Amino acid sequence: MSTLRFQALKETFNRKPVKIKETKRRSELFGNNVFNETVMRQFLTKEAYQNIIDANKSGLKISRVVADHISTGMKEWAISKGVTHYTHWFQPLTGSTAEKHDAFFETIGDGLAIEKFGGTQLVQQEPDASSFPHGGIRNTFEARGYTAWDPTSPAFIYGTTLCIPTVYVSYTGEALDYKTPLLRALQSVDQAATAVAKYFDKNVNKVNVTLGWEQEYFLIDSALYLSRPDLQLSGRTLLGHSPAKGQQLDDHYFGSIPSRALAYMRDLEIECMLLGIPVKTRHNEVAPNQFELAPIFEECNLAVDHNSLLMDLMDKVAERHNFKVLFHEKPFAGINGSGKHNNWSLSTNTGINLLSPGTTPMKNLQFLTFFINTIKALHDNEELVRATIASASNDHRLGANEAPPAIISAFIGSQLTEVLNELEKVTDGKLSPQEKTDLKLNVVGKIPEILLDNTDRNRTSPFAFTGNKFEFRAVGSTANCADPMMVLNTIVAKQLTDFKKSVDALVKDKNMKKDDAIFNILRDYIKKSKKIRFEGDGYSDAWQDEAKKRGLSNNKTTPGALKAQVSKKTIALYEEMGVMNKREIEARHEIELEDYSMRIQIEGRVLGDIARNHVIPTAIRYQNILIENVRGLKEIFTTDFENHSKEQLKIIKEISEHIEHIHFDINAMIEERKKANIIEDSEKRAFAYCEKVKPYFETIRYHCDKLELVVDDELWPLTKYRELLFTR
Ligand code: ADP
Ligand code: MG
Repeated sequence: MSTLRFQALKETFNRKPVKIKETKRRSELFGNNVFNETVMRQFLTKEAYQNIIDANKSGLKISRVVADHISTGMKEWAISKGVTHYTHWFQPLTGSTAEKHDAFFETIGDGLAIEKFGGTQLVQQEPDASSFPHGGIRNTFEARGYTAWDPTSPAFIYGTTLCIPTVYVSYTGEALDYKTPLLRALQSVDQAATAVAKYFDKNVNKVNVTLGWEQEYFLIDSALYLSRPDLQLSGRTLLGHSPAKGQQLDDHYFGSIPSRALAYMRDLEIECMLLGIPVKTRHNEVAPNQFELAPIFEECNLAVDHNSLLMDLMDKVAERHNFKVLFHEKPFAGINGSGKHNNWSLSTNTGINLLSPGTTPMKNLQFLTFFINTIKALHDNEELVRATIASASNDHRLGANEAPPAIISAFIGSQLTEVLNELEKVTDGKLSPQEKTDLKLNVVGKIPEILLDNTDRNRTSPFAFTGNKFEFRAVGSTANCADPMMVLNTIVAKQLTDFKKSVDALVKDKNMKKDDAIFNILRDYIKKSKKIRFEGDGYSDAWQDEAKKRGLSNNKTTPGALKAQVSKKTIALYEEMGVMNKREIEARHEIELEDYSMRIQIEGRVLGDIARNHVIPTAIRYQNILIENVRGLKEIFTTDFENHSKEQLKIIKEISEHIEHIHFDINAMIEERKKANIIEDSEKRAFAYCEKVKPYFETIRYHCDKLELVVDDELWPLTKYRELLFTR
């Protein structure tokens, strides 16, 4: 009997939900471990406090002297809560978070020691981090990278460590992390959007990006997880036959949450509260053992940090519940994968959501301005937007039957489509007073009413307008939101900058009124960006054909999709908006290609090992049992034994055939890997892995899965899909 699988199953049968005690209200817990404004007032001098607030509001620099005050206050607060260490917490391009803990503790001679944390230690650190990916930016002679404090995201306590959110840059100032370019993009969209918002309200002097992510994930019992080497090493199952029952009955979605999972969620939520992550929603997702969690939206940089922190927290809390969280976009074939919808909007310092229709025609013109500019930005940069969500793991999800396709398009709903159709008819040049009144009353003025009914939400769209925000749905569940957010905010910044230039030019050169000019430019944008709008079924074959006719890109795999990251157009865009320079762009591209090849390489190795060491020996063992059986039958029945062993003989043959195929394909795959590995150029290597190595995964899997169906269940060593998915 296959021991590991059955031991693991036995272990899971005895699990009980962990008891969670909630003695305090969630609101009382909220932010208890965050160095937030309330705590700052308590632990900082008035001057230091004001300085941080100003730095947040207007990007003002914090001086070293003030930094010393702040660090002392932070240290006192942290020590009062039992903290012993501090760390610069950052997000290197590996996709997870990084931390190196240092103790406050320092000796001062004569056998004495104190707790110390100076301004310098707060502001800047030099982690010995030469092993983080840098895409060639840090050659050995400049191997130093340093982390620098980001005062716009508050410090927090995690365990017994004070964590200080930081950026991570090379000695020459180039970004080596996710946060640096994101902060630059946010600054750039702030500038561009503020300038445009001033057309409508002079009091606007800052525009913040808001982000509300929705995190999907699978929860698998840790013992079962450990019984699957593919899950352990690659995050997804590389083989496994579909269970008789999957998600077709839709009986999991929004159903009652299984009690062990619920205990986990409550535990996690309490930890989130302490860290100031405002999680609000939890529910079952479509696939069995799949769930979702979403917070109240926040300022983008903070929301990004919170999502990274959450993913780490989810892993840690899961240990206490004997669960393993699967973040992979497609851990199981044949059922839904996981995404991370990024709900995105722009909000002014005066408290207005720029993507929310208002109560007056003027406010609605403002709404339409930002709405149409976003669509235009998407239209002009669809390939770059596709590139930002490309990864080896998301390739399995995009275009599979439940997820958005690899074609980028925008869904806006039928009512807004009508509004844009009306606006498209606006006169070229100056508008007559009558036309303007008519527009304002009957088109622009009607938006709030009709939007209330914007319920025909299209789940197949990668980028959908959902009433007061855009929902970027194609983002994968493992992604760091910083990357898609950097791209989206950069392209919108560029678009709004161009818009402002065009409107100003009409006002100045053509002597137009401001709103005439706005209507004119918007009309032009609606026409020019039409091909990116699609309201139909994104899964359909018809859309694939239609998109091709429209000239939209359809890059189904990562190496192809990533090309857009380094096009002349992209480099010009990032440089113009001050988000990244050519070296930074190329380094990132290099890192992503490397990441892709390595992931496929690992999957190839793991699949080869499992097929050879687990599947084939098991199949042979079963085959021997059958052979023994046939021998016995021959002994008993002598002459017509074949009549009695027909089925057995068939299976014996079948097993041999599958084994032969598996061996053949593994050998062929290894040959292709060898060829790929000696390719110097990282793009060509990624293509080789994609086009030459990866196709073997499917054929190898096919034969392994067929063997799973014939081999005695008692012998099968790998925990089966039905056990992974339906054990609660
Ligand atoms: P659903 O889309 O499931 O109906 P909601 O519309 O309430 O639910 O919100 C979904 C997600 O969108 C939540 O994470 C929420 O925080 C986020 N969200 C709502 N409004 C905004 C906004 N103005 N900016 C960014 N995110 C938002
Ligand atoms: Mg969802």
